[in-house]
Amino acid sequence: MEKNPVVITEINEMKKISRKLKKEGKSIGFVPTMGYLHEGHKSLIRCSIKENDITVISIFVNPKQFSPNEDLDKYPRDFERDLEICRKEKVDYVFYPTFEEMYPENFQTYVIVEELTKNLCGAYRKGHFKGVTTVVMKLFNIVNPDNAYFGKKDYQQYKVIQRMVKDLNMDVNVVGCPLIREKDGLALSSRNKYLSEEERKSALSLSKSLFYAKELFKNGERNVENLKKEMSEMILNYPEVKEIQYIEIVNPETLKPKETAEEGDIIALAVYVGNTRLIDNIQL
Ligand code: AMP
Repeated sequence: MEKNPVVITEINEMKKISRKLKKEGKSIGFVPTMGYLHEGHKSLIRCSIKENDITVISIFVNPKQFSPNEDLDKYPRDFERDLEICRKEKVDYVFYPTFEEMYPENFQTYVIVEELTKNLCGAYRKGHFKGVTTVVMKLFNIVNPDNAYFGKKDYQQYKVIQRMVKDLNMDVNVVGCPLIREKDGLALSSRNKYLSEEERKSALSLSKSLFYAKELFKNGERNVENLKKEMSEMILNYPEVKEIQYIEIVNPETLKPKETAEEGDIIALAVYVGNTRLIDNIQL
């Protein structure tokens, strides 16, 4: 049976509800999102529903994690569609605040995770993770979840949040969920909506090159430079690829770049297909 989720737009109301749920001894699972929900988000919701009494999702396109030259204004939004998905997935509460509710005048406090944000996306998206950690900290304080679900699609984000929670002794269990792909390998992302038909074909360069590198690794290749070179050559053969922003092979905990690849390492990359910046990763 489908179920109408309760939509909450005010912080005080959300806090009141989570306090009440806690008092009743209910566990709260939380899935923070920027909306335009797809199968990746659904997989997090399903994990949360399975493991908690109550599931809260937030839909908030957080301006503080976009730089001025990024896609904040055109980021896809469709609240009614999202709500329909939440209804089908049996989400209990949808927290849907406005910008003014989250960042009233004179807002001036930020959370920064220092080391883990220095490379990969952090090196290219200045201020991005500061915006992410700050909003997630706020959302955790508002929703007060027992468990919070993050996709390994954004592997660096997942590790950064995990670090923040440890360092600041927060009472939230951060759960990392598997990356969900389309049948042909493309990692699901709200930004895939930007892709033209031709670009969609070239977007496969990310996953195809990751699978290829994993295959090379399985066959004994350990040299990171060689693996990266093979991947770049493959990616640049796709006509709509405009630029490879980075390809890195990193330690899964420190996210520091490796010279020799080992089992468990993460290969992560960011590529511009047309004007759309896509990211993907795989664990060796
Ligand atoms: P977003 O709405 O893009 O900010 O993503 C919200 C959450 O969904 C984040 O924890 C993402 O890592 C996760 N997510 C997005 N795409 C995927 C995917 N393809 N597979 C798994 N999780 C995902």
